[in-house]
Amino acid sequence: MRTLLTNATLIDCVTPEPRPATSVLIESGRIQQILPAAARIDAADAEVIDLAGDCLMPGLWDAHIHPDYLSLAEVPLADQVTLFGNRLRAALTESGITGLRCAGSHHYMDVAWKRAFDSGLFVGPRLFAAGHFLTTTGGHFLTSGHALECDGPYGFVKAIREQIKSGVDHIKLNLSGGIMGPAWDRHQNSFLLADELKAAFDICRLREFKVMAHATNPDAVKAAIRLGAHSVEHGYILDDECIELFLEHGTWYVPTLSISHLTPGQASNDWEKRWVKQRNLSHALCCRADDASGVHAEWFRKALAAGVKMALGSDIRPLQDAALLELGLWVRDGASPWQALQAATRHGAAVCGVGDEYGTVEVGKRADLIVVAGNPLADIHNVRRLRLVLKDGRVVADKRSTPASSDAAP
Ligand SMILES: [Zn+2]
Repeated sequence: MRTLLTNATLIDCVTPEPRPATSVLIESGRIQQILPAAARIDAADAEVIDLAGDCLMPGLWDAHIHPDYLSLAEVPLADQVTLFGNRLRAALTESGITGLRCAGSHHYMDVAWKRAFDSGLFVGPRLFAAGHFLTTTGGHFLTSGHALECDGPYGFVKAIREQIKSGVDHIKLNLSGGIMGPAWDRHQNSFLLADELKAAFDICRLREFKVMAHATNPDAVKAAIRLGAHSVEHGYILDDECIELFLEHGTWYVPTLSISHLTPGQASNDWEKRWVKQRNLSHALCCRADDASGVHAEWFRKALAAGVKMALGSDIRPLQDAALLELGLWVRDGASPWQALQAATRHGAAVCGVGDEYGTVEVGKRADLIVVAGNPLADIHNVRRLRLVLKDGRVVADKRSTPASSDAAP
């Protein structure tokens, strides 16, 4: 099974210059050759798709997601399972998000859907599962249904062992509070005692499971990095020492700008305004987000300028809008479109531990690719002008005959 994509403007996410008039040959789900369109390719048996100059790039990655957080009292579990899968599928086919890293779900729905997609029973994105996120009694975001309240060193150890037994890919550990919660769930506060932290990180190290660490203030961020976290999520408040520690330990930073930036007062384009209107967040939560966003943006810029390893993660729903909104916010906050695209492709795959197989368009890599109608390096919102989505070299969404409404500039 061979597919030849011709007349592509290639954005490989390795080098920042697009390569016009390029052909990409895919065989058995992998990128076999990348050549100038004029070069001769023996593709007699291949399916040929002429991209007519559209941009071919790696599929997008969202490295911090919760497909949904519905109440079991309001939506029965079986309905939630199907909705969860639908959200993931839509992210792939409607927005070209080919890889996702989960940051919390209940009843291990992320594990179940990961297995379903991997088995080929259903078409869906690459998924990396967290199971529950672990916090303390009176901890972070308890209304989500994803939180597991743990207390004492062995409380954390037992919960982590249960996540491992249930098939997760990484452990989501919440070291501190957040923006979206009751008054006692504050991002300025850390929640775990030193012996709880130590035990949690010790057991993850023994079992060789990566820690995805929710850390929102300088103390929590430093503790996470020093104890060996694989990635720090949010980092709403950092300091210079945090930046030094990120660089020294090579820890990933996933800033989730959407959480502090998407409020009625801050929405700056029609996509953001539409999202804010639909989500209808409470006034109290919007005030907390508005208060936090300036500092958050400032440390985002400092981390980026310092060369901290950063991947894009949205932390919002619905998934098909989330990564696209987050990409826009990265650029609004000072990232170049190139930096934002790398964060959402190459770095997304790398933070999930599969950078050798995914995240760029290079010979030998798996062909999880998207085609968009405009150049995202000229205007990041061109990622919304989706034409094709390929997973393992197979077209899983074709929008060429039905231009999306998002084509229209806001
Ligand atoms: Zn989250």
